[in-house]
Amino acid sequence: MVGLPSRREHTWASKMTTPIGHHAIVRVDTDEGISGWGEAPAIATWGGSSMRYYGETPETVRHIVCEYLIPRLTGADPMHIGPAHGLMDGVVKGHPYAKAAIDVALHDITGRALDVPVYVLLGGAQRDRVEVAHSLGIMEVDRCIAEAEQAVAEGATTIKCKTGLDAHRDLELVHRLRDTVGPEVAIRVDANEGYKTVDEAVSVGRAHEHDDIFVYEQPVAGARALAQVAARVTTPIMADESAWTAEDIVELAELGAAACFSCYVTKPGGLYHARRQAEIAATLGLYCDIGGSIEMGIGNAANLHLGAALCNAVLPSVCPVTKPLGEPGPEVAGIYYTDDIVCDSFVFTGGCVLVPQGPGLGVEVDQEKLEHYAL
Ligand SMILES: [Mg+2]
Repeated sequence: MVGLPSRREHTWASKMTTPIGHHAIVRVDTDEGISGWGEAPAIATWGGSSMRYYGETPETVRHIVCEYLIPRLTGADPMHIGPAHGLMDGVVKGHPYAKAAIDVALHDITGRALDVPVYVLLGGAQRDRVEVAHSLGIMEVDRCIAEAEQAVAEGATTIKCKTGLDAHRDLELVHRLRDTVGPEVAIRVDANEGYKTVDEAVSVGRAHEHDDIFVYEQPVAGARALAQVAARVTTPIMADESAWTAEDIVELAELGAAACFSCYVTKPGGLYHARRQAEIAATLGLYCDIGGSIEMGIGNAANLHLGAALCNAVLPSVCPVTKPLGEPGPEVAGIYYTDDIVCDSFVFTGGCVLVPQGPGLGVEVDQEKLEHYAL
């Protein structure tokens, strides 16, 4: 378990006190001397509506990985990732963040063994970069505006506003932000299920339309409520808390609840399932961004490889700009931690973060940092 120092607190409507950056890091070793890395950014308060999905923590991930998943996978071929999921699902139900950490490590091993980047294992690269949406946590409006100005000055082309606790504050924030950054910078909002009623979500969404937001993310809890909002606003609705699995995507499409969704490596339980979820979404006409939980370099690399490979991952995404202490890169744009556990910065250029190249995830873990930040 690793705890990274954060640049500032990063909060959202359903997570106002838990810190970011306490993640489980997994290394899977093979008898051929190749090891792979995975990361589970597990958060106790992160789940779905109506108890559909539960929070995980670094501690539950360690327990599930050490006591259930690794014993079951010992002796299995790490390159047969689909069958490995079958073994994991057979020994414990759920726990997608724990399984995702293993899944990412297996992809890292397979990529290193075949000398190809992970995105090749996912069908190849549709793109070599992901446009960064710089995320403003829930903060005072003045502080949000100042941070957005600095992020834009450093090259950010999209700003994401965390909202959902106070409709008046949210409307003031987005309106002042649009005034500040002008028409060229894209703005998206994410209420994290914060609005209490469909009517409140509709009135906020309609008011935001005057400030030209391109996505209205999870304003209320549950797919049925989302569908009621979607029917009454013109901005595309994005599902996040309501989009964990491929089955959720089918439900969203059937209800007309969302035009797009936030695709993570972790929510569906790994790259293998995330690709399947996104392919089903594409078939049903939904597009996506690449979301996450402010991953460190390992998990961020996994998300970027997913973003490279998905045909419908077309939206600016909250992928951090991974930057170890003292390395080159922006100070604010896409920066959530003051250090990282990988050796090299990811490249931020033209408002985008480049997908790491090289075999596997394309990152090297800094062993000294890993020990320094171990919890
Ligand atoms: Mg979200």
